[in-house]
Amino acid sequence: EKLPVTILVPGRLHERSVQRIDQSFRMVRIDHVQPDLLTPEMKRDVRGVAAMGFLEPLGAAFIDALPNLEIIASFGVGYDAIDAAYAGSKGVMVTNTPDVLTEEVADTALGLLLNTVRELPRAEAYLRAGRWEKEGNYPLTPMTLRGRRAGIFGMGRIGMAIAKRLEAFGLTIAYHNRRPVEGLAYPYYPSLEELAESVDTLISVVPGGAATEKIVNAKIFKALGPEGVFINIGRGSTVDEEALIEALREGTIRAAGLDVFAEEPHVPQGLIDLPNAVLLPHVGSASVHTRNAMADLVVDNLISWFSNGEALTPVAETAHVVAKAKG
Ligand code: NDP
Repeated sequence: EKLPVTILVPGRLHERSVQRIDQSFRMVRIDHVQPDLLTPEMKRDVRGVAAMGFLEPLGAAFIDALPNLEIIASFGVGYDAIDAAYAGSKGVMVTNTPDVLTEEVADTALGLLLNTVRELPRAEAYLRAGRWEKEGNYPLTPMTLRGRRAGIFGMGRIGMAIAKRLEAFGLTIAYHNRRPVEGLAYPYYPSLEELAESVDTLISVVPGGAATEKIVNAKIFKALGPEGVFINIGRGSTVDEEALIEALREGTIRAAGLDVFAEEPHVPQGLIDLPNAVLLPHVGSASVHTRNAMADLVVDNLISWFSNGEALTPVAETAHVVAKAKG
């Protein structure tokens, strides 16, 4: 049974979300998150938006163009493209899809780390090129996980799940956030540079946005040092990619494994040319199982909001927003 509410889907969205929104609401669509694509009917009727909050910027102009907007349900845990602070100031709820992807992304992080340190993709390419038979064994890898000290930049939901796995692998763990996590025993460093200084394996899983823009820079790579491995499963915007390419080229650090890039889907040729970088096309949460769970949570947030005035997973910036029906 459909709720008497109009939901707008601007741009691409997971097909399962689209189907479920269509089943549960009156759905309208436009090709991009652009105010000039909105019809007068949309401006009058739209009370909810479902969007990919890491893809196209959704800011003040779009929010202001929809005077009856109550909620933006975003697909993905990172919502750096949505101006959530502005939404919050206008009484518009924003939700994301945390938790349901945590374990998947942590699995990917560990895979990326192993592939980077033990050169598994290059070893497979060696086999597939027929070189094992012709030239003998793949060379021993100069790097190992044995004895490595891991530093987690962003000890949140995913950071914790990565730490749990790293502990099982026998690595030591330290971390940096803006604030220490209460009751967490791992050593805390009040700055990213101090963390990088004290470890040789830096795993970044912080959100994007202005506060973290290019925060992983030349200074951090220098602190990480010549045995250093840098893994990024958070956001590409947090890294100075030019400085990273330089650090990998010059041996300032040893290797990097990256799932995210500053200007996706473009990956700088400088990175592609480097043998000591393992590069993945943003597949952190990209299994059918986990993407379906994320797609469901987008729609469940909308249904919960419009049927009982409660968002299931509000983002911090809009946690104070109350449904109009609730007063
Ligand atoms: P959480 O909010 O649970 O964790 C984020 C952590 O980062 C917190 O511990 C927070 O601590 C810390 N942090 C935030 N801002 C800063 C800052 N400026 N300086 C230092 N630390 C900071 O989020 P999740 O763990 O669920 O997700 C983390 C991010 O991972 C997402 O925002 C997303 O960008 C990315 N991601 C990538 C995926 C992929 O496919 N590669 C998939 C899913 C997520 P504090 O607030 O104390 O600073």
